[in-house]
Amino acid sequence: MDNLVIKAVNYGFSHAALLDASTLRARSEVRDMCGADRCNRYGKNWRCPPACGSIEENAQAMSAYRTGLIVQTTGELEDDFDYESMAAAGRRQKELFISFRDELTGEYPGMLALGNGACTECAKCAYPDAPCVAPERSVSSMEAFGLVVSDVCEKNGLGYYYGPRTITYTGCYLLQ
Ligand code: SF4
Repeated sequence: MDNLVIKAVNYGFSHAALLDASTLRARSEVRDMCGADRCNRYGKNWRCPPACGSIEENAQAMSAYRTGLIVQTTGELEDDFDYESMAAAGRRQKELFISFRDELTGEYPGMLALGNGACTECAKCAYPDAPCVAPERSVSSMEAFGLVVSDVCEKNGLGYYYGPRTITYTGCYLLQ
């Protein structure tokens, strides 16, 4: 398993750490924050709440796993309002996250990948008019599953804040 961390960093992630799945807690307060819809995705995506399942169903799904891998991309900002660099780091994390998931699929076919933000596999999500067009490729976020990302990182010995004028995006793969 330790090799997975090295593999992730060599793949391009800024940071990575093994994850003990017993540290995961699905919290209704996080789901409530999704409901506030600050990201404008609530009720608009098959992999976001409420379509991604109840918090109890999400907790049940995560309980099937014992281990995993956390991966992060950290971007450097020119100032606190450098939204362009923030968005670029978020896109890089998403791209790396999906392609690394495809790398891992052969060895871990039953993995549960939880990324950052809404699923962006399609230019426009089919929700709610038609079924998800690629359920095997679509990804929910850690927050959608009720996880406090900083808490998951801390409990697994990984940083979350890497200093002034940086931004970090986090995802994880739960592995059996
Ligand atoms: S794969 Fe497409 S239809 Fe399915 S959740 Fe993602 S964006 Fe929506």
